[in-house]
Amino acid sequence: MMDPTYQKYLDESRHKKTRTSEFLGQLKDMDKKRVLQELYQAHNEVFKEVDCLACANCCKTSPPLVVKSDINRIARFLGLTPREFTRRYVMEDVNGEWSFNAVPCWFLADDNHCRIYEVRPEACRRYPHTDEEDFVRRRSLNLANTLICPAAYRITLLLQNRLTLLP
Ligand code: SF4
Ligand code: SF4
Repeated sequence: MMDPTYQKYLDESRHKKTRTSEFLGQLKDMDKKRVLQELYQAHNEVFKEVDCLACANCCKTSPPLVVKSDINRIARFLGLTPREFTRRYVMEDVNGEWSFNAVPCWFLADDNHCRIYEVRPEACRRYPHTDEEDFVRRRSLNLANTLICPAAYRITLLLQNRLTLLP
């Protein structure tokens, strides 16, 4: 069960989707240094407050991409061969990329802990990508993340307020 406050953020995010999309599209034309400075600041502030264990919405709704090094590492951790691990847990999508083959994730425990946390896919470790330089160019991915991840929505909103409302 998701914390009701986080659900409220996601509801708000859905309502503001068009405005958020417009804002995200404007980032590439803004001063990159300032955008990244405000982005990293907002990321740190929001993730100081957000408790991912009271959410886990990414793990419940969005299968992470996995690459060969993820498969090898997790398979070793679980005592499986990479081939057996892939057969059980991985699928290839239409773009030829690999991801886990089920949501909620196979490795998500009832209390929202990740059973393979130490060796989780790189994509899980980096999610929701709000402390990465490429953020300014990933409009559609960022928009999708604001609809899944309450933290991504809060970070984007803070960024929007600071870049468009403040001098
Ligand atoms: S591997 Fe862990 S962090 Fe990644 S989606 Fe599954 S439960 Fe979540
Ligand atoms: S990264 Fe976002 S969607 Fe995933 S658990 Fe944390 S707040 Fe929720």
